Amino acid sequence: MADQSNSKTVAIIGFGTAGMNAAIALRNAGFGGRVLVFSDIDTLPYSPILTSYYAWGDKTYEECFPWSAEEVADLNLDILYDEPVEALDTVTHAITTSKGTYGYDKCVIATGATPMCWGFPEVEGDSAYRPLVLRSMADAQRLKDALERPGIKRILVSGASMVALKTLEACLNHGLECTLVGINPHVLDFNALPEAAIRFEKGLREKGVELRLGQSIKAVKRIGDKLEVTFSSGDTDVFDEISVAHGMKSNLDFVVEGALETDRALIVDEFMRTSDPDVYAAGDVAQATELISGEKRIVGIWKNAALQGATAGAAIAAELAGGQPDEECAFKGSISTNTIAVNGTLFISAGTMEITPERSIEVREAEDMTVVYIFENREGKPRRLVGFNLVCDKDEPGSVAYDTGAMLTLRIEAGCR
Ligand SMILES: Cc1cc2nc3c(=O)[nH]c(=O)nc-3n(C[C@H](O)[C@H](O)[C@H](O)COP(=O)(O)OP(=O)(O)OC[C@H]3O[C@@H](n4cnc5c(N)ncnc54)[C@H](O)[C@@H]3O)c2cc1C
Repeated sequence: MADQSNSKTVAIIGFGTAGMNAAIALRNAGFGGRVLVFSDIDTLPYSPILTSYYAWGDKTYEECFPWSAEEVADLNLDILYDEPVEALDTVTHAITTSKGTYGYDKCVIATGATPMCWGFPEVEGDSAYRPLVLRSMADAQRLKDALERPGIKRILVSGASMVALKTLEACLNHGLECTLVGINPHVLDFNALPEAAIRFEKGLREKGVELRLGQSIKAVKRIGDKLEVTFSSGDTDVFDEISVAHGMKSNLDFVVEGALETDRALIVDEFMRTSDPDVYAAGDVAQATELISGEKRIVGIWKNAALQGATAGAAIAAELAGGQPDEECAFKGSISTNTIAVNGTLFISAGTMEITPERSIEVREAEDMTVVYIFENREGKPRRLVGFNLVCDKDEPGSVAYDTGAMLTLRIEAGCR
């Protein structure tokens, strides 16, 4: 059968790492048709990972963009900048923005996620106040502007996830007095077991961070240029700014309810196909196989978004050329991995932190390092490592801590094969 794909249109909604890698894979696989990219921003794809480093001055604005204008131009894409998608009609294959309606043959949804401020109360005396959040370059600019504002001294970071801790690091590096409030009894939320989190908390306290764990923000009142915060403990304190990191929500408002199989995000197969054969999803909007649970979950990390975007692009190119996606490009699944260092205290984790009756933990303490191992003991099967946390009082690239983290991550991945 002759290759008809040159007359086809592939739409990519969202121009982050997943969208960009879908475009690269389409072209690498020889797709010569139209690639129509919808972006809600007016810049090249940026890396959310680098936003906190930009905010505290460790990276320049330009360094936050992994691809150059030349690399993007080489892909010959039709990019509609500043044109957020408002509706996707999977029945008529139509994408609507405020400027028009566009058809597609295949579509990749790669719209990432938005930071949420769940539970943050309206500020008394300043109902327009929006706390700082961190995801986009615009968020990073707002944080940077706040950190550099003359007279700013005290900041409250609400949330204890990786994003909250990255924000905290940016604030510490600006010499601010930092308080962190988290609803859970320990930092690092679902990424760490208490045995590791306690050492990380010690590191934070030594850097002067006040920790208010097991608490939340109950009320906020504007008093002049300050914000008076009442915590659920009943205590009050006064801050110049508040940053909130209460989790992320996949950007899927433009998808008609019921049109695609959805849980917390879009359920996809190993080629990133959703329940609609012409719609694919990749990155933080996709629930693909998480290897330890075997369940479909969002594993919101950069590498996954890149690999999933590449898988979607290669699979679409194959299908539009009249063939089947190659098993070699299938996304076989992933495990969660995290690395963060806050002013010299290092945390590395991989795998699961879910303790089930079949799982046990082992804690190994060294002078400057705690490693928590999570083993699974299933009848008739060899004991396997399914997760670990590592906290080190020093952050030295190339150190034993980094080597141990890399080795344990590989061990977990090998145990999943
Ligand atoms: C502060 C922070 C630190 C992080 N640190 C790490 C780390 O250290 N390591 C790691 O692996 N991961 C990290 N992550 C996670 C990682 O950045 C994400 O998993 C990854 O960027 C997801 O890529 P994506 O392409 O799915 O989404 P994004 O990169 O968010 O791209 C999605 C794009 O789609 C756009 N979009 C949204 N809605 C629409 C619409 N309706 N129409 C058109 N466009 C739209 C968005 O504006 C965005 O430009 C971090 C995330 C944050 C926020």
